[in-house]
Amino acid sequence: MKRKRLSLALLIWLLLSGVGVTALFVSVGKHLAETFNTDARILHRVLSQRMEQQEAVLNAVYALERQGTGTAALGTYLNTLLRPYPQVVAVERCTPLGCQVLGSPTERPPRLAAALSAASAVGWPDDGGPLYALSRGNVRVWVDARRLTGALDSEAAPLSYTLFRPQTDTAIVAHTTTENWGSASTTLHVEKILGTALQPFPIRISRPVAWGSWPWLGSVLWTLLTAGLSLLVWQLLEARRAAQRALLDERVRAGGVVEAASEAIVALDEDHRVTLANPAARAALFHPLPPGTDLRAVTTFQATLLQAPFDAASFWDSPQPTSLPEGLTLLRTGAAGQEAVQVEGSLAPLRGAGGELRGRVLILREVGPLQRRMLEHLEDGERRVREHEEMLAHVSRLSTLGEMGAGLAHELNQPLTAIVSYGQAAARLLDEPEPDLERVRHAVGASVTQARRAAQIITRLRQWVKRTPSQSRPTDLSQATENVLTLCRADLNRLGVRVVTSYADTPLVRADPVQLEQIILNLLRNALDAVQDTPDPTIGLSIALDKQGWILSVRDNGPGIAAEVSTRLFTPFTTSKAGGLGLGLSLSQTLAQGMGGDLSGRNADVGGAVFTLSLPRLMMEAASD
Ligand code: ADP
Repeated sequence: MKRKRLSLALLIWLLLSGVGVTALFVSVGKHLAETFNTDARILHRVLSQRMEQQEAVLNAVYALERQGTGTAALGTYLNTLLRPYPQVVAVERCTPLGCQVLGSPTERPPRLAAALSAASAVGWPDDGGPLYALSRGNVRVWVDARRLTGALDSEAAPLSYTLFRPQTDTAIVAHTTTENWGSASTTLHVEKILGTALQPFPIRISRPVAWGSWPWLGSVLWTLLTAGLSLLVWQLLEARRAAQRALLDERVRAGGVVEAASEAIVALDEDHRVTLANPAARAALFHPLPPGTDLRAVTTFQATLLQAPFDAASFWDSPQPTSLPEGLTLLRTGAAGQEAVQVEGSLAPLRGAGGELRGRVLILREVGPLQRRMLEHLEDGERRVREHEEMLAHVSRLSTLGEMGAGLAHELNQPLTAIVSYGQAAARLLDEPEPDLERVRHAVGASVTQARRAAQIITRLRQWVKRTPSQSRPTDLSQATENVLTLCRADLNRLGVRVVTSYADTPLVRADPVQLEQIILNLLRNALDAVQDTPDPTIGLSIALDKQGWILSVRDNGPGIAAEVSTRLFTPFTTSKAGGLGLGLSLSQTLAQGMGGDLSGRNADVGGAVFTLSLPRLMMEAASD
C-alpha cells in the first residue's frame, strides 16, 4: 500500500516535471523559430530590395544608352549614381567588337563565357566567381555578390546564408556566422527565392541555436519545484491514509462497544431518524430499526397513573441531555400483542465541533429483568441459607440421638413395664371365679394410657431425627420447656441434678414447637454436661417477660464458659468437649433468630453459666387468629 502511494507520488512528479520541461522547451523553441523567421524575412527583403536597385541601375543606363548619351557623360553620371550601391562594381557597354567599361569601376569585370542575348539576362563569368552580370541590350551591370550583404552582416542577428545560381547547386556567395557554430545544439533553416524579375536566386538561410539558448535553469527549477510538490502530495496522502485508518479503527472499536452493549443504543440525526441501532435496541423496541426510521413514530412511552403525564414532544426536542422519568413504561407490540415494560434511560444531543446540533443518542434499559434477576438472586441465597440451617439441625439431632439413647431406653422401659404388669393384673383378675370387671377395665385402661405414652415418645424421637420444614404456630414456651424436661428426666435423676423452675403465666410465642424444644434441649444438655462434676448440681429454668419479649434463662452452677471458647460460642464446631460437635449452640441461635428472637450466653456473677433465649411476645388476639 505504502509502495503504491510512493509510486503514485513518483508518477505525479515525472508527469509534472516532464510536461513542464517539455512546455518550457517548446515555448523557447517556438520563440527561437519566430525570431529566426523574422530575421530571415528581413534578410530576404533587404536582399530583394538590393537586387531591384541593381535592376533599376541597369534599366536607367539602358535608357540613357538608347537615347544616345555619350560615353563620357554616361561615365560621369554613373560615378554619381553608383555611389550608394557598392555591390555594383562596374557598368559596360558592349558591341560585337568588344565591351567598354563606363565611368570608373570598382573592379575590372571578368569575361563572360557565353554571349548574352539582347533581352534582359543574367550572365555568369567563366571563373564562376562572386561577380555576375545583369545585361539588357548592350548594357551590362556587374554585381559583386559579396558586397550584397556586407552592411547587413554587422547589424543583423547571427545568420548564415548561401545565395545560389537559379536551378543549380552553385553558390554565388556564402556567408557563415562564426557565432555558436562550435556549440550549436541544433540549426534552424529556411529556403526562399529572392523576389526580383531578373535575379530570382534561391537563398538558404540558417541559424545555429546555442545550447545556452535553451531554458536549462528554468527546467531544473521546475523539476525541483515539482519534486517538492510531489513530496508534499505524498506526505498528504500518507497523513490522510493514517488519519483514515485511525478513524476506521476508532469506528470499529466504537461500533463493537455499541453492538456488545446490553443497553439499547440508537443514534439519530437532527430529524430523529435512525442512523445506527444496536441489537439490544432492536430487541427492546420489537422493531428492525432500519436507517432512516423516525424513532418517534416507533417508540411510545406511557406514564403510570402515579406519575405526571409524559411530555414526549419536549423530551424528543430537548436541547440538553434528558433522563426518562423513573418508572416510565415503554409500549411495544410484538407477536404476542402489546405489552408495557418499565424502562429507564436518557436522550442526549450530539453536537459538532462548532456546537451545532448534529443528532441525538437514545439509551434505554429495561428495568424489569434487572429487578427480577436481583429478586431471584436473593431468593436463591435465602433458600441456600435455609437448607443449610435444616441440614445443621439434622446433624445436631443425629448427634444428640446417641447421647439420648440411654435416657430413651429408660423412658420407654417405664411404660412398657407398666403395660406388662397391668396386663398380667388384668389376666389374673379375669381368672378369678367372679372377676371384678371394673378393676379389669381400669387395668386395661391404664395399660392403654402407658402404651400411648410410649408411642408418643417414639413419635417425638422420629420427629427429632427427621428433617421437617419449620411450621410456626402459637406455642407455649413453658409447655415446651416441660416437654424437654420430661425427655431428660432420666439423666437428671441419674446425676442427681436439682431442677428449679419459675414460669410466668402463658408465655406465648410464635414458633415451630419441635425447633423450640430442640433449642431448649441443647441448652439443658449443655447445662447437664456442665454440672456433672459439681457438688449439689443445680439447673435453674425461668421464663419472664421483658421489653424485648419472653426470656427463657437456663442457669447452672457448673464451672462457667471456658475462656478459649467464650468469644465464638455461636460459631459452628466450637467445642471444649472430647466428643462434642460444637453445633448445638450455633444451630440453636440460628433457629432462634429464624423465629425473630435471639440466643446469648455469659458467665453469671455468682458462678456458672447463664444462657438466655429471647422470643417476641405473641399477643392473645394474634394467637387466636
Ligand atoms: P458441644 O456441646 O457439642 O460442645 P455446643 O455448641 O452445644 O457444642 O457448645 C459449645 C461449647 O460451649 C461447649 O463445648 C462448651 O465449651 C460451651 N458451653 C456450652 N454451654 C455451656 C455451659 N452451660 N457451661 C459451660 N460451657 C458451656
